[in-house]
Amino acid sequence: MGYNQQDTQEFLSYLLDGIHEDLNRVKHKPYVEVKEAEGRPDEVFAMESWTNHLKRNRSIIVDLMHGQYKSKLICPDCQKVSITFDPFSTLSLPIPIQRMITLPLYFIFKDSSLHSHLKINLNLMPNAPVSEILQQLSRMLKLPVEALELKILRDHQIIEHDTSRYDVKSLKEHEGIPFVYQIHTPYIDPPLDKFNVRKLVRVELIINQKLKKNAYSEPKSFHRMFYISQEQTLKHLHLQAFTIMRVHVANFVNNEEELRKKIDISIEGMTHSILEKQYEDVLSLSQVDLLPYNIYFVTNPDGGDEGRVLIPYSADKKISDTFTLDSNREIVLELTINPRIRSEYLKLNKCKEADSLPQMMSEPKSYNIYDCFNLFITPEVLDKDNTWYCSNCKDHKQATKTMEIYTTPKILIIHLKRFRTNRVSSIGSFFYTSSSSKITSLIEYPVVGLDLRNYVLGKYEKEPIYDLFAISNHYGGMGGGHYTAYAKNPKKNAWYDFNDSMVSRQNPDELVTSAAYVLFYRRRDDDMSMSPIEVKNGGGPTQKDYA
Ligand SMILES: [Zn+2]
Repeated sequence: MGYNQQDTQEFLSYLLDGIHEDLNRVKHKPYVEVKEAEGRPDEVFAMESWTNHLKRNRSIIVDLMHGQYKSKLICPDCQKVSITFDPFSTLSLPIPIQRMITLPLYFIFKDSSLHSHLKINLNLMPNAPVSEILQQLSRMLKLPVEALELKILRDHQIIEHDTSRYDVKSLKEHEGIPFVYQIHTPYIDPPLDKFNVRKLVRVELIINQKLKKNAYSEPKSFHRMFYISQEQTLKHLHLQAFTIMRVHVANFVNNEEELRKKIDISIEGMTHSILEKQYEDVLSLSQVDLLPYNIYFVTNPDGGDEGRVLIPYSADKKISDTFTLDSNREIVLELTINPRIRSEYLKLNKCKEADSLPQMMSEPKSYNIYDCFNLFITPEVLDKDNTWYCSNCKDHKQATKTMEIYTTPKILIIHLKRFRTNRVSSIGSFFYTSSSSKITSLIEYPVVGLDLRNYVLGKYEKEPIYDLFAISNHYGGMGGGHYTAYAKNPKKNAWYDFNDSMVSRQNPDELVTSAAYVLFYRRRDDDMSMSPIEVKNGGGPTQKDYA
């Protein structure tokens, strides 16, 4: 083993396996044929698997420390079910945070003069729905959740409007990018309780630039959008667009003293009338062909100037008079930047990384050990680099795998999976291992009375209720770090802290810490005392346990 052995759980498995082999009462291990369950009841098949295990393994380690897992794999294509019962000596429990994934997304404020658009990395459970993403952003940015909508964009265009069927994992795997839009601004939209997007018309703005006569650029920035009532006027439509655009226009006019005074984006308490005043000032300064941008309805995208109809700033014409609305109730317009403006000055795509903002995680800071058990028994779909060979389909499949606990031994070793396993990746012919990290969450575990009655599937004679007698603690990070142990002296009924050459009394009220890495539990059985273990009736299941 040398000096390279860093991990106490790996060391323990190695040590217990070594002791087991040295003390194995089976001297000549017979060949054991592994059969499939073929519809036989769990009780029968589990006992057969355990008997097969005992044919080759009989030692005090097996008697005291081996339990049985049940694992079930289901082929996604032919629905073939494969069940196995395998012995274990350590129960490795996942920690909930390990399952979270990071979803990068863009957050677009409706009036970005108040806040710069954000690029945010959210940590979420893979199966969290879109509503959970919006809830998290709502808490983080202190905006009402009804004011937020998630869209999927590709090449600056909104390619999916209805994203309600997605979860975090499928969004992450999507070829497009998630954008969350703030769709409501108090000073221009009706109050939120009267803001029902189903009754409103969605207006999508494609931002492009006029290059020369009859020539228009590709989109310069991601689509903007807002909602408007069909009873409202084209003037209101212009003001909605100006809410979105005024920060960009202000960026451009920064050096033009006269205009800058008109568009004061630093105003506190923005109101509808200030907005209207600012926009009309901009309009009064310019003739139509000198405006920073114009808004067009496109009848033929390839038709040049002929294919575009200018939307006038009119307080008389209603939305419903101007546009033919289909059942989707959406209008797509072009917001075309004036050719004399260098569009990069508008900073249309400016975003700020939001890492500095406090991320309000929906996950609790600490977990209970039963959360870990629940996660352990949750079915999971195997990932692409860990497939299962389906003998029916004659192919490797991303099966659904469910692990369960069938029996538990007298001495139960629980390993909290605090270290993410090294993942070997490759780029071309270069292989590298990505750095691993340690999960430092506090896992609350009972010192007295760990109750696994809800988790042990098989019948048992002795209730699976356990008391803690030792803890292996790990401090520090991956590779480095320091181990100590807490252990109970059964004769003195006292806990001790073993720290290198130092041994001291440990307060029994301070045994639950975020350093806990491997937990050692002993089944209560009949003897309530923590007397030294007697090996009469071992920990592994016996024929009686199945009776
Ligand atoms: Zn199959």
